[in-house]
Amino acid sequence: MANCNQYETGRDLLSPNRNFAPITAEIDEQGSLQVGGCNLSRIAESYGTPLYVLDEVTIRTACKTYREALKKYYPGDSLALYASKANSSLAISCLVASEGLGLDAVSEGELLTALKGGVLGKNIVLHGNNKSDHELLLAYQYGITIVIDNQHDIERLAEIVLPGSNPANLMLRFTPGIECHTHEYIRTGHLDSKFGFDPDQLESVLIELKGASWAKLRGLHAHIGSQIFELEPHKDLTEVMVDVLDLARRLGHPIKDLNVGGGLGIKYVETDDPPTIEEWIKVISNGVEKACKSRGLDLPRLMCEPGRSLVANAGLTLYRLGARKEIPGLRTYISVDGGMSDNPRPITYKSCYKACLVERPFAPAQEKITIAGKHCESGDVLLKDLDFPSSRSGEVLAVFGTGAYNASMGSNYNRIPRPATVIVNSGIAELVQKRERPEDLLQYDVIPDRFIALG
Ligand SMILES: *Cc1c(COP(=O)(O)O)cnc(C)c1O
Repeated sequence: MANCNQYETGRDLLSPNRNFAPITAEIDEQGSLQVGGCNLSRIAESYGTPLYVLDEVTIRTACKTYREALKKYYPGDSLALYASKANSSLAISCLVASEGLGLDAVSEGELLTALKGGVLGKNIVLHGNNKSDHELLLAYQYGITIVIDNQHDIERLAEIVLPGSNPANLMLRFTPGIECHTHEYIRTGHLDSKFGFDPDQLESVLIELKGASWAKLRGLHAHIGSQIFELEPHKDLTEVMVDVLDLARRLGHPIKDLNVGGGLGIKYVETDDPPTIEEWIKVISNGVEKACKSRGLDLPRLMCEPGRSLVANAGLTLYRLGARKEIPGLRTYISVDGGMSDNPRPITYKSCYKACLVERPFAPAQEKITIAGKHCESGDVLLKDLDFPSSRSGEVLAVFGTGAYNASMGSNYNRIPRPATVIVNSGIAELVQKRERPEDLLQYDVIPDRFIALG
């Protein structure tokens, strides 16, 4: 049995979210796995493990596919924004900016990473359901669009923007009443969500903002969820959003931007079958165009905010196999040198992944094993009940689809340093995030003098 069977079923080279491995993944002459022209076991040797590997071509391809699909299917202006919480670093900010994408950020840290990575303020959108005054001020000063999420944002900005100065560029986020499950969705008037205004509050908020000299409301925003495999919820979303666009314009707001959020799913395991990027863009483009036409509205600029589908499948994590524990008749654990600190998704969401040995990706399965992390939690398991070849301690394992919500959600649990990240392209691997050292983890610790005095 093959462990990387995307090679057997063919790859979708335009829609990276439909392959669990990066689109440049190949088997070299020695039969070992390479990505971006780089042999993964050699990279593991040079940079150590665990190691995040990002494939530049896969990220650029996803960016380009979003960009070109918007051009192809949407007759008005458009801008795709990278939801940087998926994986935030200077190099990725720089890369997505070079592909002509904007970026969305949710904190001062993500804002700084975007700005220092070269994303222009006018192409950045600041989200968040509890923005600090400092975050609001920073965003205002850089001309970043601020997404008004609640009344608190309005109150704080009314104080932060001084009378007589330029108004703040705003978007208004609301809960559209569309809930997505894996295979169904329901509509409700009021959604139990901490984000955005309830639809019932919209009219009064729009009237309030119209009277605020510090505010310039230019856009509307909604985001219905993540890892979504159906297209219908997003089609419905466009209709709900255009209704609100109509209302806001009638109330006198010059709304230019309609931001439908992100959420397109990706392939983590064989049974995952997400739509292509192009199909997704086609549905939201047609939805907005039709809804605007039927209401006689000028087309807004269409914005979307993909996170996972831009970076997840560009990434993989390399680990070295270590200890083995066999519990006869029950389970065999093989532990790796990382775990829930570099990939908290399995313990958080019971997420499933695909993995193979990098030097023999097609070695036939000989046993059922469970890949465990090295943390002090029984739940620290990365892959459960995997059909796996017989293996040795020291072999390098690649876990696919870790480019999103791994590094960005990682921790230092058990005081384990964060892995390095390398980006690969055309046979060259370059460091984009250095590996932490255990001593780095002590840098913010302080021992009160009196503890020392006490010896
Ligand atoms: C998380 C998030 C996204 C990105 O979602 P993906 O599923 O990763 O595409 C976009 N917009 C907002 C507001 C989000 O919170």
